[in-house]
Amino acid sequence: MKHIAILGSTGSIGTQALDVIAANKDRYTITALAAYKNEQVLAEQIEYFKPKIAVLIDKAAADRLVNRYHGNTKILTGEDGLIEAATYEQSDTVLTSLVGFAGLRPTVAAIKAKKNIALANKETLVAAGELVMSLAREYNVTISPVDSEHSAVFQCLNGENKQQIQRIILTASGGPFRECTTKQMSTATIEDCLKHPNWSMGRKITVDSATLANKGLEVIEAKWLFGVEYENIDVCVHPQSIIHSMVEFIDGSIVAQLGMPDMRIPIQYALSYPDRIASEFPRLDLTTLAALTFSKPDTEKFPALKLAYSAGNQGGTMPCVYNAANEVGVYAFLNREIGFLDIAKVIRYTMEKHTLLANPSLDNIHDADAWARGIARQALNDVKKGY
Ligand code: NDP
Repeated sequence: MKHIAILGSTGSIGTQALDVIAANKDRYTITALAAYKNEQVLAEQIEYFKPKIAVLIDKAAADRLVNRYHGNTKILTGEDGLIEAATYEQSDTVLTSLVGFAGLRPTVAAIKAKKNIALANKETLVAAGELVMSLAREYNVTISPVDSEHSAVFQCLNGENKQQIQRIILTASGGPFRECTTKQMSTATIEDCLKHPNWSMGRKITVDSATLANKGLEVIEAKWLFGVEYENIDVCVHPQSIIHSMVEFIDGSIVAQLGMPDMRIPIQYALSYPDRIASEFPRLDLTTLAALTFSKPDTEKFPALKLAYSAGNQGGTMPCVYNAANEVGVYAFLNREIGFLDIAKVIRYTMEKHTLLANPSLDNIHDADAWARGIARQALNDVKKGY
């Protein structure tokens, strides 16, 4: 029996993970659940899964939950509550499915408490990949990717010698604006972004998919998960989202992982690895597919991808700054403060102002994140004036 804590249990990944767990009660049990403020969904999850502890970061929401709930689950709040959920002694695995840089602190705490990590929260590895991976080695815990692309690469590398990797090829759907002109994207709305062709996801990652910042974050995530240099990580646009990613080896062979675009498959694999578990998920029938197509991403049209490579190659605190500026830009767009194309401008502006620090400590990373958010907020005003 695996004892699992889920940080971000009310979100897209969190709820799908709970579906997987509900279908495999003989293998998994829930010890802790944490969310930001969605008391309604968390209350239903507590009722069904009966965790030992449940956390709402937002104090008012947690108070409301305490008032209406009279069972045995301990309800906690705030950052301290989140850390308690991440380090709860009876858990052996922590699924990090909260969104954004907020995932870093609890992930580090979980690793130090010797929990294996099923990692959906890619922003953690983008901001502090070197540190997090070295902590995982030091505390002898595994980090299993939940992201479908990284799960695909992980599966392609099963039993392979990592020294023999030529390159990693991350596939990208291309998002809803793949065939739009820059002029058309300049007036893109939140509603346009949220119409993702193949995946149903949280709001932040859906916007990231539309700008291709998501693919940029994934490139950096891949670098740290698999120890491959940026020049050997390529992105390939594959609108059907059937091949989830590939690895080319030094002999010229390319190994790919295919499947329906259904996040429950990589979530389940991250939890069951090294085993596979039979599932009722819809099956892929290759004979029904008209075509699988591939093309190069247009980084002039989608500059957020190019900026991610630049941040990754510069290293040090720059990827953390990229991530923070992107978060500020995305939420400003979601609040209708800036246009769609302004998101990448906010990232560029913030990166240009940053003097990077090589080999940052965790404190340096937190400082860089806070600094970048301040500059990115200034950038919001400047981009509105036409920077
Ligand atoms: P959602 O927005 O759907 O869910 C986010 C979850 O995190 C919710 O439970 C939310 O709680 C909680 N949360 C938000 N802010 C905080 C915070 N500051 N502290 C603690 N908890 C917080 O996101 P997704 O599920 O789409 O994405 C989660 C992560 O997984 C992201 O890093 C994303 O990039 C990654 N990912 C997602 C995929 C997908 O298909 N959705 C695919 C691959 C990776 P509340 O509901 O109370 O606000």
